[in-house]
Amino acid sequence: MRSPRPLPRRLALLGATGSIGRQVCDLVERHPDRFTLHALIAGSDGAALQAVARRHPDAHTLLAHPADADGGDAARAIDDAVRDPEVDLVIVAAAGSTALAPTLAALEAGKDIALATKEVLVMAGELVRERMRRHGSQIFPIDSEHSAIWQCLWGEKERGIRRLILTGSGGPFLRRPSETLESVTVAEALAHPRWKMGPKISVDSATMMNKGLEVIEAHFLFDVAYSGIDVIVHPQSVVHSMVEFVDGSIKAQLGVPDMHLPIAIALSYPDRLEGVAPAPDLAALGQLSFEALDAVRYPAVALAREAGERGGTAPAVLNAANEEAVALFLKGQRRFVDIVPSVARALEAAEPAEELSLDAVVAADRRARAHVRASAKGPTRLWSQLPA
Ligand code: MG
Repeated sequence: MRSPRPLPRRLALLGATGSIGRQVCDLVERHPDRFTLHALIAGSDGAALQAVARRHPDAHTLLAHPADADGGDAARAIDDAVRDPEVDLVIVAAAGSTALAPTLAALEAGKDIALATKEVLVMAGELVRERMRRHGSQIFPIDSEHSAIWQCLWGEKERGIRRLILTGSGGPFLRRPSETLESVTVAEALAHPRWKMGPKISVDSATMMNKGLEVIEAHFLFDVAYSGIDVIVHPQSVVHSMVEFVDGSIKAQLGVPDMHLPIAIALSYPDRLEGVAPAPDLAALGQLSFEALDAVRYPAVALAREAGERGGTAPAVLNAANEEAVALFLKGQRRFVDIVPSVARALEAAEPAEELSLDAVVAADRRARAHVRASAKGPTRLWSQLPA
């Protein structure tokens, strides 16, 4: 990978008030010689954005929810902010599908991106890759597993890679008796044993849909076939992921479960920042354990892999149906155990798009959401009858 522009790097931060956005601000405040915040963009939390802006008075601030902004001023303002010639690196950490259009815009402007929002690659990985190739832009992963794989691949040749091994903690319900999953509450699903994260990704970790989305993300980031991407359960979340090579070696990246680490390397690549987090105390940990993924307990992983292999707009359907089902669960309108079956039914109903375009992705996304919302109320309509 080409090294981005030298330090100090000027950053545009999309998703400034979310969990990742706040940690980006921490790192910028700790390293004012290396980074400046040029633009702070948030979707809805005006008070939190003002609080961040007070600490970074030189940054432009923009409160605009990209999803409400069909052709509107907010969408144009975000577009301008990510294309601004003053910006060296765009950090994409906005929630879910709202991040897609600004990411494509930034890539078109030739910007490098530090990407936390995996949904962008899941929805439209092929379009993202095509924009990167055409405009010479790059993506540095912030997702901890992909950051680990990225680091394991430094200095390696493509022909030496046998497979990528994503680790997943198994979330809060790894040992919970399956027959009790029907009564899972929102609070229980949000209580991740290792990572402090936003609500959507916490629920995705509990169903392990997060790992399924990460399989698709890895496919597009590293251009590795789905058959060469495996998942293994590692409850301690210290080994963040691994790469197996043709000679039988495996390289792993280890660290404490702290998102400051993958954020820092994505912002400062190829340099490492001093003292981002304490290194894991291996003697104190004593044991690191691994176990095979239980496909019956976590059907989301195979479902996501299937959608990825089907290609076209199937991953966009998977992603949108999941976002919608999770949102309904968080509102108390669906049970936890209904989330993955809702996604499976939307995928089953979905018709493939003839050609993959941004319009096709947006239409598939809307239909999938409508399918999930409608499926609780009687028989579902044909895919083509759902509003696109
Ligand atoms: Mg992850």
